[in-house]
Amino acid sequence: MPGGVNSPVRAFRAVGGTPRFMASARGPYLTDVDGTEYVDLICSWGPMILGHAHPRVVEAVQEAAARGTSYGTPTQGEVELAEEIVARTPVDKVRLVSSGTEATMSAIRLARGFTGRAKIVKFAGCYHGHVDALLAAAGSGVVTLGLPDTPGVTGATTADTLVLRYNDVSAVEEAFADHGHEIACVITEACPSNMGVVPPVQDFNRLLKALCERHGALLIIDEVLTGFRVTPAGWYGREGVAADLTTFGKVMGGGLPAAAFGGRADIMDHLAPAGPVYQAGTLSGNPLATAAGLATLRNATADVYDAVDRAASIVGRLASEALSKEGVPHRLQTAGNLFSIFFREGEVRDFEAAQQQNAKAYAAFFHAALDHGVYLPPSAYEVWFLSAAHDDAALDRIAEAMPHAARAAAAVS
Ligand SMILES: *Cc1c(COP(=O)(O)O)cnc(C)c1O
Repeated sequence: MPGGVNSPVRAFRAVGGTPRFMASARGPYLTDVDGTEYVDLICSWGPMILGHAHPRVVEAVQEAAARGTSYGTPTQGEVELAEEIVARTPVDKVRLVSSGTEATMSAIRLARGFTGRAKIVKFAGCYHGHVDALLAAAGSGVVTLGLPDTPGVTGATTADTLVLRYNDVSAVEEAFADHGHEIACVITEACPSNMGVVPPVQDFNRLLKALCERHGALLIIDEVLTGFRVTPAGWYGREGVAADLTTFGKVMGGGLPAAAFGGRADIMDHLAPAGPVYQAGTLSGNPLATAAGLATLRNATADVYDAVDRAASIVGRLASEALSKEGVPHRLQTAGNLFSIFFREGEVRDFEAAQQQNAKAYAAFFHAALDHGVYLPPSAYEVWFLSAAHDDAALDRIAEAMPHAARAAAAVS
């Protein structure tokens, strides 16, 4: 396997050293092949909101597997998962796919097909999966590797992609003034979390919605990371801005490959077979994935969100206090239960600011935490993910590790 991994952020390129190979996971813990246990702060990069190997999810997947793993026909589970998504979010209709990348790629094709326009607007530092047209200034994975650009994505593919500075209202207004009649859609992360957590400034998403409406473009809000994680309704539950199309992934698959895009019925009905825009998938709505997703969403109760909120605020505070005590320049940014720590001072409102970090200090912090049994994201540009299974015992272990990690960061600051 190139680089020894099947997805680049799993390698320790940004922090140095050898990636740990995990053998099992339970609740808030990961256990590697040497038998070492870690408190997990990546939660599979978001999906495991209930913690690992939740009994209800495991049971649902086992029962589904016993009934056969895939049929290539419609199933009841897909209908139930679609109903669960429609009940929680502003979307009228939904299509299930297998990854967040597929969801954003398909949503963009649909937006172009529906409007008959070519141009798309994205924001620097927002990541929407490895869709060719969206791999411009795309945040964590690409930044972590230090690639300015991705070879293999041609100029022709990104020629219709306008990349704007995040949180820059006048840049969006200018783009619409210059290209209003050519813009098919604006795609944005509901709350950018792939360059660290960079919350939208007051009413930014609402303004995007108003500008799109005025110019006949569609707004796509990417909730692959935030959906069903920050509230039962995702980021929509915090701001109430209904996009024309919304993308989902991560939590809704419960750790199996499931994702979705949905939105206004009149737009969604442009998809084949109801309409002319082609989109398909052999394993879309796979029975095991829908079973895991349904079990996860049905068990993601108000208590679960309370527990994740509480754990996130405690861990953010523990890390920030430890760094302050050692005099390490840093900034904790939070948005609901999402948070990340930038190894720099001052507010971070865009990608340019996010990139001005002390990567060496983060690498030292990361490795000292790992040595003390806490598995942080192996990149300074990632959210720290918590679950409802992060109980007091797990939080105590984090509390013990943070001073060591902060001391290591101070030594190289
Ligand atoms: C993870 C992520 C994606 C891509 O999802 P994959 O399942 O990895 O393809 C897209 N958008 C956002 C905001 C994400 O965080």
